[in-house]
Amino acid sequence: MSEGISQSDRPQEIEGDSGDLFSKFDSLIAMRENLLSGGVEDPFNLVMEKVISPTRAICNGRDTILLGTYNYMGMTFDPDVIEAGQQALADFGSGTTGSRVLNGTYQGHKECEEALKEFYGMDHAMVFSTGYQANLGIISTIAGKGDYVVLDIDSHASIWDGCKMGDAEIVPFKHNDIEAMEKRLRRIPEGAGKLVVLEGVYSMLGDIAPLAEMVKVAKSHGAMVLVDEAHSMGFIGEHGRGVAEAQGVMDDVDFVIGTFSKSVGTVGGFCVSNHPKFEIMRLVCRPYVFTASLPPSVVATAATSIRKLMQGSNKRAHLWENSKTLHGGLKALGFELGTDEPQSAIIAVIMPDLERGAAMWEALIKEGLYVNLARPPATPANMTLLRCSLCAEHSEEEVQTILGMFERAGKAVGII
Ligand code: PMP
Repeated sequence: MSEGISQSDRPQEIEGDSGDLFSKFDSLIAMRENLLSGGVEDPFNLVMEKVISPTRAICNGRDTILLGTYNYMGMTFDPDVIEAGQQALADFGSGTTGSRVLNGTYQGHKECEEALKEFYGMDHAMVFSTGYQANLGIISTIAGKGDYVVLDIDSHASIWDGCKMGDAEIVPFKHNDIEAMEKRLRRIPEGAGKLVVLEGVYSMLGDIAPLAEMVKVAKSHGAMVLVDEAHSMGFIGEHGRGVAEAQGVMDDVDFVIGTFSKSVGTVGGFCVSNHPKFEIMRLVCRPYVFTASLPPSVVATAATSIRKLMQGSNKRAHLWENSKTLHGGLKALGFELGTDEPQSAIIAVIMPDLERGAAMWEALIKEGLYVNLARPPATPANMTLLRCSLCAEHSEEEVQTILGMFERAGKAVGII
């Protein structure tokens, strides 16, 4: 505000469109108001009033089956995990009140990193406060000005934000297209630093990457490879290490990024690597240095959960069964799905438009089923999706109940 303007002039100036920094959100506000004006329940404002188990909660007073969480392995109510968290809360207090590089590294953070090294069979592990920060931090720190990041166009927001923050040249390629990726790599000037960023499972459609071929191509062009295994950890691969393990290319991946907010069942993020100089990241990675570390109870639950996931093969097998049953059942009912075959624990049901997607979401919540309503910009190709994510704790009967709910809701809304 310049000096010549009196206090009384201010409200008028703010009322005008030009000064209101919120005016850029007007179309989104209008779309939201339009969606809710028909009286539908707000799909983006659901409250879990009570959580009964990894697969059930009370929402709007209703007993609800949860089919829209990332609790793939159902670890949130594991008695050993809860006990470890309670013990750490009692022994170490509620928070660290500091950065990992100052007063925020407790015994529990080191134990958590040891558990990760063992889980992945890697030399180094670094725990961040979220998975978002792990991608932001690692990508922005290793790929800076003059370097090139070659990434799948459908990459998670945290990957894009990491690229932007690092100021490298960003080179996107068509989703899961090996040839397009190779073409981009070929065009990069000789001698420039190259990082290829891929995901094991892409979370919107639940499809997996052809990592075996992609990693091979990336390596043949001298690029380093980072794979975000957020949605595959604990579930995919013989030891639950992810799609890179399942496709036999773990040894060629330079950095695996992951999160504790999905199969591990708490919150936090990490990077594991065999790079001999990896430990320097603890001093140069800003989203690691300039933020408080995870509370002791969180790292204790994470470490316990990660160790239990190493023995999770029965649960992994049951989750695959759930995924196959739901995918096959929805397909037989006539729903359009994101993948022809089940490739992960995520099954995306494609809606014709946002209005009918919201109506279907509401019909399901009234049936007592929660799924994620996903829409652009989070989704590829402007799609509206009902994303179903299964849990190893869903029983066979629950999956059949879910199919019945989809059938009734789909017919009521006129989608099938
Ligand atoms: N990577 C991917 C692929 C994700 O889907 C997510 C979160 N949905 C993250 C990273 C970020 O994880 P976090 O919730 O721990 O921040």
